Amino acid sequence: MREYTEYFKKWEEKIGAFIEIDEKAIENSGFKGAGKATSEMAGEKSEKKHVAGLPFAVKDNIAVKGRSISCGSKLLENVKSPYTATAVKKLEAQGAWVIGKTNLDEFGMGSSTDNSALKKTNNPWDANRVAGGSSGGSAAAVAAGLVPFALGTDTGGSIRQPAAFCGVVGLKPTYGAVSRFGLVAYASSLETAGVLADSVERCRVVFSIIRGKDENDQTSVEAPAKAPKPEERSGAPRIIGVLPAESVAKAIAAVAGGGADSEQALFIAAQAATLEEEVRKSFETAKKNLAALGHTLVDVEIPSLKYGVPAYYAIAAAEASANLARFDGIRYGKRPDWAENPDDLIDKAREAGFGSEVKLRILLGAFVLRSGFQDRYYLRAQRIRAGIRRNFEALLGGADYAGDGVRCDAVLLPVFPTRAFDRGPSTLSPFAQKAADLYTCCANLAGLPALSFPASVENGLPVGVQLLGRAFAESTLLDIVDGYEKAHPFPHPSGYEPFWD
Ligand code: GLN
Repeated sequence: MREYTEYFKKWEEKIGAFIEIDEKAIENSGFKGAGKATSEMAGEKSEKKHVAGLPFAVKDNIAVKGRSISCGSKLLENVKSPYTATAVKKLEAQGAWVIGKTNLDEFGMGSSTDNSALKKTNNPWDANRVAGGSSGGSAAAVAAGLVPFALGTDTGGSIRQPAAFCGVVGLKPTYGAVSRFGLVAYASSLETAGVLADSVERCRVVFSIIRGKDENDQTSVEAPAKAPKPEERSGAPRIIGVLPAESVAKAIAAVAGGGADSEQALFIAAQAATLEEEVRKSFETAKKNLAALGHTLVDVEIPSLKYGVPAYYAIAAAEASANLARFDGIRYGKRPDWAENPDDLIDKAREAGFGSEVKLRILLGAFVLRSGFQDRYYLRAQRIRAGIRRNFEALLGGADYAGDGVRCDAVLLPVFPTRAFDRGPSTLSPFAQKAADLYTCCANLAGLPALSFPASVENGLPVGVQLLGRAFAESTLLDIVDGYEKAHPFPHPSGYEPFWD
């Protein structure tokens, strides 16, 4: 019994993935040796064997009754959730159990998990580097083998980017495919709950359990009848569109107008979108491996992608400034010891409770929504969003599954321009980190599913790539990546020992 407990403690000391751990549950888990956990709990052939009896981790912005729901914020530190999110309930109903709540960038705002106000999370491959974000704790816990899978949220890349940095599978489902009941809202029209897992098969089983319409979330829906079913696997060769990453960086640099400040910002943005040599190499490896598996690769263009980041940040900040208005320190959360009047109480609670990135985004959101200027920023961003969706639908087909003329089954994109970055002087600036969200935020703007997976290891660090698909076609993406995993088993950091199969 001690083995798993010790393994867990040793890794957790090094990576700091968890904000709250259920120590008793770990002690009582009965996991005695590596690779033994599942078959004892459920029949070998059962789909359930991928979850039944197994522990999982939950990002600390997803509710689990009686557990922490800090969102990585001082304002909600020590708050316990009074109820459980639908996705968690569904997994518990299949016999999986929550082992703890994982670290994240405060309210999901960031790409490193260093924006957490509560602790640092390190990358299991190199503890001097970030785990990625915002679901960094969940990704690190899976990569280190502390849990076979974890739940995260993805508003602009927060499942896929840490999955890529830590070398695990990360699925951001179609908008509405998984209930958001029990998620603390950051940007409601962009975000989804999704899966981080140690294998494609496990990711598939977890996704099939958590998906579906939920009475408690009116934006949740069942997949259309014609969409491929996650339960039906297919090894069919596919047509995969490939976006040449250099073309996007060039297109950003070529956006003209706006004066000197804007020129400078575009220059940095174009630089930030340019792939690091190792990532470029890994992207080429992914292309070669996919072609060798029998898939046909074709080059595609997504013309409006170059406007993706500004549109994403205008919309995400606008929604965040509205959603975060509920945190006033009155009903729950940290409140000041003394205040002159209710307004002063709210001011003091927010001043002390929110970190600087959160304050920045609330201000940005208020700025883009201010009276008389909506047309200039927010509505313009919504038009760009519609353009990005149309560009993808022209390639992949729409959510209604009507009509033909579809050019490809999936689109291959980088996840992030760099591998996991370190915290030294060469680290990515906050602005560059935002500009680098280019490759992930487009799936959220378009509401499409995207699956990130480790393509290769370059100079000791994993590199992820992602496939984007038609709305509700998660299964197609899982099929392609399942073939990839079988031919190129996913890598693990040294010291990794799985306690389940
Ligand atoms: N990096 C993005 C941001 O900071 C993604 C966040 C997310 O998906 N929650 O907004």
